[in-house]
Amino acid sequence: MRRKFVAGNWKMNTTFQSAQALAREVASAVAASNPAVDVAVCPPAPFLWSVKQILAGSPVLLGGQNAYFEKSGAFTGETSLDMLLDVGCEWVILGHSERRQFFGDTDAIINKKVAAAIAQKLGIMFCVGEVLEDRQANRTEAVLTTQLEGGLAGFTSAQLSKLVIAYEPVWAIGTGVTASPEQAESAHAFIRDWMASRFDAKLAAELRIQYGGSVKPENAKEILSKPNVDGALVGGASLKSDQFMGIVNAAAELSR
Ligand code: PEP
Repeated sequence: MRRKFVAGNWKMNTTFQSAQALAREVASAVAASNPAVDVAVCPPAPFLWSVKQILAGSPVLLGGQNAYFEKSGAFTGETSLDMLLDVGCEWVILGHSERRQFFGDTDAIINKKVAAAIAQKLGIMFCVGEVLEDRQANRTEAVLTTQLEGGLAGFTSAQLSKLVIAYEPVWAIGTGVTASPEQAESAHAFIRDWMASRFDAKLAAELRIQYGGSVKPENAKEILSKPNVDGALVGGASLKSDQFMGIVNAAAELSR
């Protein structure tokens, strides 16, 4: 059985103080409930180190929200994967739709970032998902195919052992509109089948596919109970520890 994985993407939110407070709350709630799921938080880059200190001794994992593929050099404003590792990250989110939309992350650039993260042995939450126009035009699977083919070009299945895919329909991110459990299940099943035919059945069977898009404690159980939904990548609701823990606990209940 695939272990469910719930990660909080704090995006460009929190202050130094509030990030520490949120990390403290999540760490102590996870320690108290000891859920049988993986839990990660992905704070803004400047707060990673201080959050790591708070998470010390806790099972809560740390992730970066993005990274650049070069190792070092004259790349003003960028964060390398080495730097993420250095401050204690185990995970990195790559290909998030906000990176694709606002910062020019193409499939080719994401592919280089995935390659660099594989080289550093970091866990990767690789995000894919269609915009509303594509869904309405029945192009969801075509878009997912392009993003999967582009982002994962050139790798072998052995290299993808630490890969998680996050299916995040762009029209559901931060909008309060959630994909129906059936819509999520169908996209996840498509992704798993695609991975089986492009790579192999074992990798596809073991691959965890998170759903992301307005997940809240109220809708988490229904979505997470679908057979191909192995966790959640949570934006807005990860900024309140009680809401985030509501989602973690929903995943944990389904894992009993
Ligand atoms: C996200 O950006 O990864 C996300 C899923 O955001 P939200 O939960 O706010 O829709």
